[in-house]
Amino acid sequence: MKILEKAERLKKLPPYLFKEIDRKKSEAQAQGIDIIDLGVGDPDLPTPPHIIETLKKSAEDPANHQYPSYSGMSLFKETVAKWYQQRFGVKLDPDSEVVSLIGSKEGIAHFPLAFINPGDIVLVPTPGYPVYHIATLFAGGESFFMPLIKENNFLPDLEAIPADICAQARIMFLNYPNNPTSAIADLDFFKRVVEFANKHQIAICHDAAYTEMAFDGYSPPSFLEVEGAKEVGLEFHSLSKTYNMTGWRIGFAVGNKKAIEGLGAIKSNIDSGAFQAIQLAGIEAITGDQACVRHMNEVYKRRRDIMVEGLNELGFTVDPPKATFYLWVEVPSGFTSAQITSRLLEEAGLVVTPGNGFGEPGEGYFRIALTQKSDRLIEALNRLKKMTF
Ligand SMILES: *Cc1c(COP(=O)(O)O)cnc(C)c1O
Repeated sequence: MKILEKAERLKKLPPYLFKEIDRKKSEAQAQGIDIIDLGVGDPDLPTPPHIIETLKKSAEDPANHQYPSYSGMSLFKETVAKWYQQRFGVKLDPDSEVVSLIGSKEGIAHFPLAFINPGDIVLVPTPGYPVYHIATLFAGGESFFMPLIKENNFLPDLEAIPADICAQARIMFLNYPNNPTSAIADLDFFKRVVEFANKHQIAICHDAAYTEMAFDGYSPPSFLEVEGAKEVGLEFHSLSKTYNMTGWRIGFAVGNKKAIEGLGAIKSNIDSGAFQAIQLAGIEAITGDQACVRHMNEVYKRRRDIMVEGLNELGFTVDPPKATFYLWVEVPSGFTSAQITSRLLEEAGLVVTPGNGFGEPGEGYFRIALTQKSDRLIEALNRLKKMTF
């Protein structure tokens, strides 16, 4: 039957990561089990009030009711450029080197459409945020997976990428601080990436969604801080995690003019920009009091410390992350990621994400998102104490 036969690009989709977990979670809930969900990376606390106030006021202004500019309001792009200068010491031209996004996922998903022809190769970290691979598939490209393993501090081994792959690759995705491993990258690594990009003529897409979620005095760098980075790449940013704004759908991409122009050309033919009231709220988030960000980081740090200490006492192996709200926990020996995930749900009512769901090298791990209050985390640990591994 030809009618509504799915396109090849949908048939090629890997199974939805949370589908099986969602099914088991609903089953457990139906049995009346009290679930502690440490699965999804979505902040549990509300958006700070001053940002909501700005949205309310801006929503009432008819000037914001019409189509916005495709690439973002001038004030939004200028605000982003100023923030990059202050935060990272990176100079950006607001007109040609910044574009607003309807969440950074939107920009990441659209980017390959601008630069990938059928059969082109995209270098994709694994385990990783699933959108890099799916966006590649949608553009007709092929992913070459770069394993992120503990021995390499969860950084891709650039030397290990075969020469013929380097020759055919057009884009490399990177993401530091990293989801799901919570690994970080320093400027030295980014320098090597820029050299690699120049040598092989590969564009770099750095997903920087977690640069503002860091602890212990650590301040994650921007990829664009490295000399020559802007000649080879761009960076995706999001207000979602920093300001508890996942539902608002606002982010931005910055960097190379040609990259921003290409992404903008795709977007202007698909969407019509972000609601101006939300852009104005985003400006308030970036320029307003940053006490809310410091507060959130203290909250996550406390949760991290409770969980890391508790898990290590119970015989799990997990290092305290310097950034992100994820713990990348080694599965006790004798279990697979899927087995431990099932046992945690069935015997303790805990939802965690199996590491292999983010890609095969994630086997042997599970991911905990620190998106529950401390007392729930302590409850989770108490339940774990009653289990034997
Ligand atoms: C949450 C997340 C994003 C996207 O967030 P948006 O809400 O679309 O801005 C992007 N990359 C990673 C790695 C994430 O975890």
